[in-house]
Amino acid sequence: MMQRSISIVEVGARDGLQNEPGVFTTDNKVALISRVLASGVRRLEVASFVNPKRVPQMADAEAVVAALPELAGISYIGLVLNMKGAERALATRVHELGAVVVASDTFGRKNQGQTIAEGIAEAARILAAARAAKRTAQVTISAAFGCPFEGEVPAARVISIAQAMADAGAAEIALADTIGAAVPSQVEDLVGDIRAALPGLPLRAHFHNTRNTGIANAYAAARTGVSTLDASLGGIGGCPFAPKATGNIPTEDLIYMLERSGFATSVNLEALISASRWLEETLGRAVPGLVSKAGIFPKPQSQAA
Ligand code: ZN
Repeated sequence: MMQRSISIVEVGARDGLQNEPGVFTTDNKVALISRVLASGVRRLEVASFVNPKRVPQMADAEAVVAALPELAGISYIGLVLNMKGAERALATRVHELGAVVVASDTFGRKNQGQTIAEGIAEAARILAAARAAKRTAQVTISAAFGCPFEGEVPAARVISIAQAMADAGAAEIALADTIGAAVPSQVEDLVGDIRAALPGLPLRAHFHNTRNTGIANAYAAARTGVSTLDASLGGIGGCPFAPKATGNIPTEDLIYMLERSGFATSVNLEALISASRWLEETLGRAVPGLVSKAGIFPKPQSQAA
């Protein structure tokens, strides 16, 4: 069997930090991003262009982007929830916009003041604005595997949102388990359904480890054909508008699992572990990730006694 490769989107500087009680300094955000870049990750969500009154941790979005290193082959993603955010992001040098449609009217109103229909319409405007500015744009379907307020989210609804966003020109669709409710069989079913409905459209998946199913879901998604997985360094994070949300799957744990399972990632795990240890020191507390504590197995040559 030919080895498949899986790309990684590091979301630590956005999803990871937006739920941190203390505000991480701009310099520390740039240091976090630079350390992850040094491990070989090539796509990173670096900021969200949202109302600073609602998410004060992201108030320095423009300053973060301005301070990032200019490197070939890198894509910096700015998350935007509406046209105001898109205009702010397009005034910076982010390469890519990430729009969000929440697959639940109740959660959509709480998270970004939009019903599903309003979210689809706004994301279509964001895609058009990005296209006019010659930048890439993709759409994340949030709460795709369950809603904290409405419960089960029907797969047919997620498929129809994905269809609408593909028609509007999304370069990629991401399925996000914002509240960490998904299980692997559900991931296989939904990814399979979307692939059948939209053959050839690149898919990404985004898992939270709220119920300890995140890494299993990532494996299911990789096996079922997503091309890209989101993760956050150390496993920090969570949505401020989703009750009891916990962190993303830890990037270093994901790389360990994928590489040992035969997927190529082009990411250096040792560099990622040292970045995760730096993050722990900088936050002043332990992060949820486990591989940075247990170490790589088997021991890399460089560490062999
Ligand atoms: Zn998330």
